[in-house]
Amino acid sequence: MMNIHIMTLFPEMVMGGLGTSIIGRAMDKGILSIEAVNIRDYAYNKHQSVDDYPYGGGAGMLMQAEPVYQCYQAIQEKINAAKREKSADIDKEEKSISEKKTRVLYMSPQGRTFSQRMAEELAEEEELIFLCGHYEGIDERVLEEIVTDYVSIGDYVLTGGELPAMVMVDAISRMVPGVLHNDVSAEFESFQGNLLEYPQYSRPEIWHEKRVPEILLSGHHANIEKWRREQSVIRTALNRPDLLDKAELTKQERELAVSCSSVRKE
Ligand code: SAM
Repeated sequence: MMNIHIMTLFPEMVMGGLGTSIIGRAMDKGILSIEAVNIRDYAYNKHQSVDDYPYGGGAGMLMQAEPVYQCYQAIQEKINAAKREKSADIDKEEKSISEKKTRVLYMSPQGRTFSQRMAEELAEEEELIFLCGHYEGIDERVLEEIVTDYVSIGDYVLTGGELPAMVMVDAISRMVPGVLHNDVSAEFESFQGNLLEYPQYSRPEIWHEKRVPEILLSGHHANIEKWRREQSVIRTALNRPDLLDKAELTKQERELAVSCSSVRKE
């Protein structure tokens, strides 16, 4: 069971996006819990405003430190209370594990770029807190106090951290055991072993006069695996040659990759 808490000014956007299909079903089944917490509920003035002008001038507004901090504190207290309840009857060793600080991920174009590898690592956590900025971002002082990881989804600037949080929650959730119907489907996918996935085909056998590769109809599993592996190497060499340096390839596969790379350059 994984618990995800998303600090945002737009909870309905986040829950609307994550509540459908595979992730929504995992929530219904109790494998995943995702809650979006409205930072505005922790505003401390009567107008419920959460942003103000940046000191020193400049365009746009900045999210203030205090509502973000209060929102974080409320989530952390809730997590601690749930852990205390759970740990009433577990031994001391397990207790020290469960008391470790919850990771707080700030969605930021200035962060480390999110990757499949990071998704796998984060899927090991029991609790995760996501912090979504908006406007020109968030007062630096609260970030210094609560954030453990700064994560970007790519080198472009979005209006808010909600879409990045949704992207990350989706990628992390599908690594949580039981979320995908068939755990095998997460077994070989693009980026695993630094190779892209092979091409796939479904019925009918002929579509727009294009035939499904004969080998996939042969029923010969070893040959199919061999073909798929070669296709992965070819695709990676053609589309993402940068990944190949880190991929573990046989001598033959390396030669295949080199021959594809030279075709690409022509
Ligand atoms: N002024 C900030 C800067 O230049 O670094 C950008 C602020 S951006 C307009 C508003 C919010 O969107 C950020 O606080 C962050 O939460 C989110 N955001 C924008 N682009 C992002 C990206 N590529 N990855 C993750 N979060 C992003």
